Amino acid sequence: MDIKVPRGTQDILPSETEKWQRVEELIRETCRMYQYKEIRTPIFEHTELFTRSVGDTTDIVQKEMYTFQDRGDRSLTLRPEGTASVVRSFVEHKMFGYADQPVKLFYMGPMFRYERQQAGRYRQFVQFGIEAIGSADPAIDAEVISLAMSVYQKAGLKKLKLVINSLGDTESRVAHREALVNHFEPHIDAFCSDCQNRLKKNPLRILDCKVDRNNPLLASAPSLADFLNEESSAYFEKVKEYLTLLNIPFEVDPNLVRGLDYYNHTAFEIMSAAEGFGAITTLAGGGRYNGLVQELGGPDSPGIGFAMSIERLLLAIEAEKNEWSDLSTLDAYIIGMGEAAKKKAVELTNELRLNNISTEMDYLDRKVKTQMKSADRLNAKYVLVIGDDELEKECVMLKNLSTGEQQLIPWNKLIEQLKNSMKA
Ligand code: ATP
Ligand code: MG
Repeated sequence: MDIKVPRGTQDILPSETEKWQRVEELIRETCRMYQYKEIRTPIFEHTELFTRSVGDTTDIVQKEMYTFQDRGDRSLTLRPEGTASVVRSFVEHKMFGYADQPVKLFYMGPMFRYERQQAGRYRQFVQFGIEAIGSADPAIDAEVISLAMSVYQKAGLKKLKLVINSLGDTESRVAHREALVNHFEPHIDAFCSDCQNRLKKNPLRILDCKVDRNNPLLASAPSLADFLNEESSAYFEKVKEYLTLLNIPFEVDPNLVRGLDYYNHTAFEIMSAAEGFGAITTLAGGGRYNGLVQELGGPDSPGIGFAMSIERLLLAIEAEKNEWSDLSTLDAYIIGMGEAAKKKAVELTNELRLNNISTEMDYLDRKVKTQMKSADRLNAKYVLVIGDDELEKECVMLKNLSTGEQQLIPWNKLIEQLKNSMKA
């Protein structure tokens, strides 16, 4: 038998899970600071939820969904993204009636898209995302962007680029859409069959096409920026003002469209400019979706959110090689030389652990030199050696592996001493 993981999926091995957990903790902590509360929705939903919200001319719905019939003949789909489910839940549980608005939610969990596998692109990946539903204040747009930026910054990333655009309101988009149809229609035969379908249904999607991306007609297409009505422009100006107020540098890219249909007004992406990050540089994407709650059967509640994958965040950390790429979590490694010292080592190992000092020791009766190598590999901060001499003096030899400093410490002072020097 030769069964491997399905294409586009991966096992996250013990050497990696540590980083995942750290990043997840950092995210939960950041959400606490910004007061976004976790929501957990099912991994699969009725297919119609995604065709209605993400849009049936998008890549996600046309090519990427894992859709199946269940035994009751319902069409279900493994969720390809989080916003649709969160908004469905918002409507289903009448969260628009909550006393405190906007309702601020976050989610973190696996998403599924049938995509071509490449670095940074998986068929199962973990997305963290937030949604703020119930406010059309441009200050909340800035808050949402600021939360995403601060997750990356706290993970030590420095080479970040924020790109924003405004997709405008319905009126602006209708005007722009007409201009796009007029622009592409005479030359549509030169485009892929998907784009030919998109022309009448959703010409904006042509700008986001991966097949025709180099067609010069894309670059010369009428820009949404020229079709924003006064209200949409004013809104966009305010968002930019708030970002400036928060000291968040940004670039405006009038061609930023985003791959989902429900967006309007603010759209943004955060990219990594780190060398060696690879071809895919987008870390996170998001935007405003003022019609979506209504589309899914709720009242006219405006919303905004973003999503990022943990996989790409970890790739960016790897590319920037900061302190997060080498997380060490072992505080102490205890070496007992000889029968009697081994007993003491077992005892001390247990005591340190009970005092929240992560500790490891040898269980293979290996040579001291081999144990030292082990301590090194495990990235231990301290090695504690007990030999005959130390046994007699009721001490351990404490060695700081980063400075090389050695010190004889009495057993009854050990915990205190370790805690103090770990703080320093
Ligand atoms: P892309 O242009 O890279 O396909 P997208 O527009 O499909 O991205 P969104 O649907 O906006 O991406 O998802 C938001 C974020 O989720 C992305 O910025 C990325 O971090 C992550 N993401 C999307 N698809 C994948 C995937 N297949 N594997 C890993 N992460 C992904
Ligand atoms: Mg995609």
